[in-house]
Amino acid sequence: MSDSTNNNVQSTILESHFGNTPTGEPVTKYTLINKNGVEASIINWGATLIEFKCFDKNGVLGDIVLGFDSLTDYLTNEPYLGATVGRFANRIANAECTIDGVLYQFEKNNGPNNNHAGPNGFEKKIWQASAFETTTEVGVKLTVTSPDGDQGFPGNLTVETIYSLNDNNELKIAFTATTDKTTVINLTNHSYFNLNQDANALAQNFYSPATQMTPLNEFQVPTGEVTSVLDTPFDFTQTKPLGQDIDASHSQIEIGFGYDHYFLLDGYDGQVFNLAAIASDPKSGRKLTVSTTEPGFQLYTGNFLNETMQGKGRIFERRCGFCIETQHIANQPNLGKFPTTYLTPNQVFKSQTIFSVGLIS
Ligand code: BGC
Repeated sequence: MSDSTNNNVQSTILESHFGNTPTGEPVTKYTLINKNGVEASIINWGATLIEFKCFDKNGVLGDIVLGFDSLTDYLTNEPYLGATVGRFANRIANAECTIDGVLYQFEKNNGPNNNHAGPNGFEKKIWQASAFETTTEVGVKLTVTSPDGDQGFPGNLTVETIYSLNDNNELKIAFTATTDKTTVINLTNHSYFNLNQDANALAQNFYSPATQMTPLNEFQVPTGEVTSVLDTPFDFTQTKPLGQDIDASHSQIEIGFGYDHYFLLDGYDGQVFNLAAIASDPKSGRKLTVSTTEPGFQLYTGNFLNETMQGKGRIFERRCGFCIETQHIANQPNLGKFPTTYLTPNQVFKSQTIFSVGLIS
């Protein structure tokens, strides 16, 4: 049975109250449903994807992202489940960088590094949200204004995150940002996927055409080098189970405690969509295809999940979900190479990623 024969309803958007923040602000859950019955639910706390449901080979709808049960857990959201991460996703070495000749310092919330912009990033903001419908998609547009100095970064930054779901079962996440002072920016969605929630994520298959990655130093920050993945544990150019080489004896695997590394994609020009990865699960038959306008993605295999949190009926044990975080290269402002993360007032930052769900053919 294919996805498209399951339902055949009208696409629709449901809105419901998800909870209140401690300061009493209401948080809304937007459920986008396409005509095949595929669903994506987003809350305007953190512009967070909390559910992504698609069909297995038997036509059974299942959620393929990890998530919490209530707003309370999302208020801290320590692992950034499904969140929009900014102003700067991933690590900045020594929690500092120079912007327009001025050295800016950020909070050290990851050893000596700044990670995901610090403890009060976009994942902890209320975004203004409005649902929309076009002839081809259902969506929700979320905007936030991050004031000059927020998280230590210069410039009043306005960010728009648009989630849209079409009838080809493609969930698109589009980011746009503008600033009134030169700043640095790196945005990503931090969903943890598991295509068959009853099962071991590491047994699911992973493919990426990426032939190059950026090795990390001992503090998990890219050194600026680029190395070939071929014939290493980082080689996914032939589909293999995600966990096959996750504990291989390799210095980079040791530094990352598994996969927590950036893969570079060929063909980046900031506009075209390049295939980043295909995850598939032989048991359920589900397949997830990720393509992006970003220069690459961080593959993070949930190495730091440790059974202290739970949601949707499962305890988040180590490596029970994997993130395909499309983004620019971590620490880019200090590397002086790779696609730039600097944004000037006369530019518009744009980034788009499509998460497409279907069945293994
Ligand atoms: C990082 C991990 C980190 C996780 C939660 C990922 O993007 O690469 O190292 O533990 O986010 O912060």
